[in-house]
Amino acid sequence: MHATIRATILAAVLFGTADADAATLIHAGQLIDAVSSAPLRERTIVVDGGRITAVEPGYRTPAQGDTVIDLRNATVLPGLMDMHVHLTSEYSRTSELDRFKKDAADVALDGAAFAERTLLAGFTTVRDLGDSFRASIALRNAINAGKIRGPRIFAAGKSIATTGGHADPTNGWASFLGARPGPAEGVVNGPEQAAQAVRQRYKEGSDLIKITATGGVLSVAKSGHNPQFTEEEIRAIVATARDYGFKVAAHAHGAEGMKRAIRAGVDSIEHGTFMDDEVIQLMKKHGTWYVPTIMAGNWVYEQAQDPTFFPALVRPKALEVGPQIQKTFAKAYAAGVRILFGTDTGVSAHGQNAKEFQLMVEAGMPPMEAIRAATILPARFLEIDDRLGSVEPGKLADLVAVPGDPLADITVMQRVNFVMKEGVVYKAP
Ligand SMILES: [Zn+2]
Repeated sequence: MHATIRATILAAVLFGTADADAATLIHAGQLIDAVSSAPLRERTIVVDGGRITAVEPGYRTPAQGDTVIDLRNATVLPGLMDMHVHLTSEYSRTSELDRFKKDAADVALDGAAFAERTLLAGFTTVRDLGDSFRASIALRNAINAGKIRGPRIFAAGKSIATTGGHADPTNGWASFLGARPGPAEGVVNGPEQAAQAVRQRYKEGSDLIKITATGGVLSVAKSGHNPQFTEEEIRAIVATARDYGFKVAAHAHGAEGMKRAIRAGVDSIEHGTFMDDEVIQLMKKHGTWYVPTIMAGNWVYEQAQDPTFFPALVRPKALEVGPQIQKTFAKAYAAGVRILFGTDTGVSAHGQNAKEFQLMVEAGMPPMEAIRAATILPARFLEIDDRLGSVEPGKLADLVAVPGDPLADITVMQRVNFVMKEGVVYKAP
């Protein structure tokens, strides 16, 4: 704990904090508020009752009872948002076997640990795009109830796939096991079952819908990019999702699956690996968002260098898909596609999400835009920008700090040393 905080808390203990006007004053050397075009120097952010009540030039002198948090040597930013994580799993050599060894309780407890790592890395809001056992929804509820520490979660629950598709949980299983997952388990065939699966997610407490519009890398199936839904099936999913106020996120690597999903009205394309010019034009026309997950591509490519790491069906897909995503990101950004920060963490290790900033900047996005893609833009996308996404009076006090200037060196985003969520400090320098 910083000496100033300790002294102020001691003072508060000695003099009493019954003072209704007592506030937390954050002295920020630099502030990136996510709405101003340039960073602000030497600001005081006043936090009271979990909200930002003022942002003032200079360092306000504390009144009796006020707590000061000294971040004069740091850059303060809004709490970060990752639009693509899987909080209840983390890929490893044993992942294929884990499906048979882990019960719901094991998965839920893994999720609790990963959620805390995510929060401490500076991510105060995430979209969880696919779980098992409804664990991300239980996690969301436990965090909201203050029982465990983690980010604010917008959960898809179980991803929706078609038979043998990327999110069919029984891919690669022996037939004698007799598994025949249906809409309740998130596996559908035909528009009627597609609608049924969306309604099941509503019943289970999901906040949004995730579909796997094409093959994927880590499923035990041959193709990483074949289309796996008819356009009619996706239309049924989107139409039903709208009835329940859900947005629809579509995992897609291949161009044909992306085109069907975009024309059918999904809100975001996840990964987007083999998007062609027609996909880019369709995304711009329909206003579809792109969530690149460059980190996941790089990670699977690195692991695939070891021929024993992945199952035999997975390795060639990792080698093909992995190195392409960063190039696709560069092309999509240059073409003006709307981009939201997302990592697919749970493929790579939880807590390393901020490495994505470096990969985005390497591919041509200016640091300020990468930061906006992880703050104000996802807040608008999630329709929570009335209370989150920027450092402005009236918003919830979700704040992080990094020890340096991310506009000069984006890698400092990987060294978040202060985390506040709704006015509660979870990490301090
Ligand atoms: Zn994913």
